[in-house]
This record gives sequence, C-alpha cells and structure tokens, in this order.
Amino acid sequence: MRQDIQLVLVLALTFGLLGCSAAPEGETGSSSTMTDSLDPHSFARPDEVRVTHLALDLTVDFDHRILEGTAALEFEGEGSELVLDTRNLDIQAILLDDGTAADFSLGEEVEFLGRSLTIALPAGTKSAIVRYVTDPSAEALQWLSPQQTSGGKPFLFTQSQAILARTWVPCQDSPAVRMTYEATIRVPTGLMAVMSAENATERSPQDIYTFRMAQPIPSYLLALAVGDLAFQSLGERSGVFAEPSVLKKAAWEFAEVEEMMDAAERLYGPYRWERYDLLVLPPSFPFGGMENPRLTFATPTILAGDRSLVALVAHELAHSWSGNLVTNATWNDFWLNEGFTSYIENRIMEELYGTDYAKMLAVLSRQDLADTLEEIGPEAADTHLFLDLRNRNPDDGMTAIAYDKGAAFLATMESLAGREVWDDFLADYFSTFGFESLDTERFASYLTENLLDANPGLADKARLEEWIYGPGLPSNIAPVVSGAFDEVDRVAAAWAEGATAAELETAGWTTHHWLYFLRGLPDNLSGTQMTGLDKAFGFTTSGNSEILCAWLTVAIRNDYRETDSALEDFLTRVGRRKFLKPLYAELAKTERGLEWARGVYAGARSGYHSISAGTIDEILSWSG
Ligand SMILES: [Zn+2]
Repeated sequence: MRQDIQLVLVLALTFGLLGCSAAPEGETGSSSTMTDSLDPHSFARPDEVRVTHLALDLTVDFDHRILEGTAALEFEGEGSELVLDTRNLDIQAILLDDGTAADFSLGEEVEFLGRSLTIALPAGTKSAIVRYVTDPSAEALQWLSPQQTSGGKPFLFTQSQAILARTWVPCQDSPAVRMTYEATIRVPTGLMAVMSAENATERSPQDIYTFRMAQPIPSYLLALAVGDLAFQSLGERSGVFAEPSVLKKAAWEFAEVEEMMDAAERLYGPYRWERYDLLVLPPSFPFGGMENPRLTFATPTILAGDRSLVALVAHELAHSWSGNLVTNATWNDFWLNEGFTSYIENRIMEELYGTDYAKMLAVLSRQDLADTLEEIGPEAADTHLFLDLRNRNPDDGMTAIAYDKGAAFLATMESLAGREVWDDFLADYFSTFGFESLDTERFASYLTENLLDANPGLADKARLEEWIYGPGLPSNIAPVVSGAFDEVDRVAAAWAEGATAAELETAGWTTHHWLYFLRGLPDNLSGTQMTGLDKAFGFTTSGNSEILCAWLTVAIRNDYRETDSALEDFLTRVGRRKFLKPLYAELAKTERGLEWARGVYAGARSGYHSISAGTIDEILSWSG
C-alpha cells in the first residue's frame, strides 16, 4: 500500500496531473483554530483525523541546504479534513490515495507554530502524499560545513523537540499523536544516514538508506543525521556511531551502556525498543543529548576520557521509559518526561556506581534547582511543575523546574512511600501507559488511585497539589546530603583560611567533587588566588567540559582575564546551550564583559544551532 501510493505519485507527476486543483498558498478559510485543539502548540485535530504512519522519501542536498521529496501519511478517523503542522515548508503538491490531487490550504503564519496545512478528504480517504521542500533556514536542521566537523566532511543533524519536526516534515506535530514510520534517504556520495529507527551499520554503495520504526512514536522523536559516520558495537544490544576520528574514544566512554540497560530493566521493566545505539555529533549540537528512540544523539562534550560524564547516557537511556514509552501529552506536561527521567537517571547511576556517587549527583541537581528558583523567582508561575506555555515558545519550559523539581518530587514520593512500594508503582505505571501519551491530570489521578489512596495517610503527606500546581518547593521535600561533599566543604574551608591550593587534599576527587568545589568558591577572589588554583589544578586546560565551564564562570565572575583566550576558544568550539548560557549570562553582567561577549559571539554565532543562538541572542540583546 505504501509503495503503491508512491507509485501513483510518480505517475501523477510524470503525467502532469498535479498542480491543477491545489489551492494557492495562504488561502484562507481553514477552520483550524487554536482554541479547539487540546495541545496549544499544534494545529492538528487528531480527535477527528489522526496520522498513524509516515513514509518519508527525501533527498539530502548539502549544496542548497534543503531536504526535498515526499511524506506519505496514513491516517484514521471519520473527519473530512486532515490538519497538519508545517513551518517554512514549501508544499508543492498533495496526492490522495485514489490518485487525484488534493484540495489543500495553508493557514496564516502564527508565531512559534508556523502554518496549518489543511487537506480536504473525500469520504474513504486513508492516505495522502505530500511533495515538499524544506527551507534552508529550517530550524530543526543544522547543516555543518566541512570545517565544522572533525573529519572535514559536511554534516547534517536534526533536532525536532519541541515543535521543530514541522520544519522538516509535514506532520501532526504534537506529542499526543503517535505514528510508526519508514524512510528512504538519499545522500551525497560517501556519506551515511542514520535515523531514530532500525539502522544499517555499513555504508550503502548506492548512497541510499532505508529505515523502519515499528514502534509508534510522537513527531518530536523523528530524527536524522547524515555525515561521515562509522559504527562500533558496544554489546549485544548496543553500539555507537561517530565520525571515524572520534569513534574509538566514544566507544571507550560508553562501554557501560549494557550495564545501564540491565539496571534500568531490573527497576522499570523491559526495554521496549530492541536496540540502543548512540550517535556522537559534532560539538555544535545544542543539547547534551536527545533521546531519539533506538539512537540517542549525544554531544561530544561528554567524552571526558574518564567516563565521569556518562550520567548523560543514563539520562537519555532513561527516556526509553519516561518520555519515549510514556510521553507527555503537551509541552505543559514536560515534567512528566524530564522529572521522571532525571529521577531515573539518578537511580541508574546508583545501581552502577553506588549511593555516594548518586547522592553527589542529586546535590548538584538541587543546586541547579536553587539557582533557577533564584533566577525566575520562587513564586513565579514558571516554577509550577504543570506549566502554561500557551502562545509561548515551548522551549521556555526547558528549565531546571521540569528536570530537577520534577526529580525532587519523585524522590520525595519515594521517601514517603518507601522505595519498594514506589518502584513497584513506577514499573506498573510504565507497563500501564506504554506507547501512550498522558497529561499531568491523568498522571495525578493514576497516582492518587494506585498509590496515595492505597496507603493510609500518604495523600496528606504527599501534598500533590502543592507540588504540581504550586510555586517553589514544598517543605516536605526529601533532603539530600552528600558525605563526599562535606569533605569538599572542609577542604574549601582550609583554603579560605590560608592553606595554599597545592596543600589541599584532593586525591581521589571525581568530576563531581570538583564541580561542587568550583561552585562553592566565593565571588571576590584575587588574581593571586585564581592563579594559585589554576596552577595547582590546571582548570584552564581541563579536557573535562563541565569542569572547564564551571571554572570559566568563576573566572568571569572574578574578572580574571588570564582565561580569556580559553573562554573564547570554548565559546567558539562548543554549541551546547547548557554551557553557553551561563557563560554569556555571566559576561553580560558587566559592560566590559558584554562588549567582549558580543565580539566573540559575532564570530561564533554562525556555528551555533538556532536553538542555542536564540537563547544567546536574548542574553546579549543581539540584533545581528
Ligand atoms: Zn531529558
């Protein structure tokens, strides 16, 4: 059937059947409005007609920075219109399954959301093929020039979350809609394509790659990368793709992935996606990782050479349960994805490395949370777990609230219910809602019915409403204490009292000890003190991105200019928003810093992903 409708399209195009009855772009009259949609970030009306399968056939054109081809959509429902989300897509023609050209219209452009694409469906229509071209500015697509990669070949990667899938695929771009998919991707000679699907591990001699994702996923998990890639196996169910020069280092760093999978399965039930592979991207990737199913996209900044930053892998793997298997219904419910995942990440790390290690990570997470609460104000509505992101960019919800307040809520539930009861509850939750999307309200009633009401007194102690719909942190929050960090506090105190940096007892410190130490440094350090620390511990030349970023932040705060060239290099080389944001924000606090930052940004901006650039534009009041 899917092959068939593609054949019809080819014939139709060949015989010039298309283009006659397609409505012109911008035609009004679409009945799609925001108010009748449950998801405030999608025009789609899945309650009427719902997409169930997508078949992509795309050619990757690096010269013009476009994807060009077709998206064949299968759908169900009795409605007379299929409404899709698009943004900056050039829709050229749409063909229905009876071989006729469809009537369609594009709605008015809406900020952040793009334009609805409404396709009229004669009774009985079950599929349609959209022929389209992406725009060179498509926000989901980052096109890297050969100079921006380690191997000197061009590179393309997508980032669809939160609502950017619509910039490269016409789809019902809501996390409440799940579909299976398949794809044929044509790439320039010598490059390899991978997707969030079943992947080949060898190059295709024809430069054509085919993919199949048999489990239904929401559109934000559609993912594609094209580059000079090689594969190395990590175990029975796992492996890593990377540019050849990075592959060996990456495989060493991720060697414990199978153990992590086993640990997560012991806690939360079977891994439902068959394989778990990782793709290491060039440094401009805006995030630490993206949990694209079967193929996590990861930043190379976690390749520290000592496996000290693999909590990120645990996080992305945890999304195989929270997020990918049980999905937030809208971006207002983002904490259901990220709070659960951050909590599970910590549990996986505890399984692998023990309680002390996990407690260090938990304390650092609470520090991030405290910083965010201070930044946005503890009473602000954006500190609620359940957010209101209507008419806003859903990326605004991507803060420590969803991640760290969410994780703190789950840790509190664990401490109130007891670990065994809580773990059973979570395992049941994942099996009950597998391959479904649910919203905060449905989660809250499930929790109440299956845990709180079943355990006398627990509902009162839990203070669910306060956690989910209230600001700041409820006072019943489970405390986290790290004995290892108490030791760091003692060392820091000794230094403050006059011990030289070289005298400090730091043997055996991990990345986390150092992060805690650096975060705790006062804001009024002298040049001599800064130089002493740097000389003793080599922070400026650290190959560990987390330590380097924390140190550079301290340097900016103390106006320590010896690190300027290292800072400029880091800001130019790395596009990960988590690092860029605090560094630029710290710089922007003084006039000199702001001016200097703008100078660096002018050169670095073109290497950043639009997601990172958008954030830094705001911090630096950048207008180009
Ligand atoms: Zn996450």
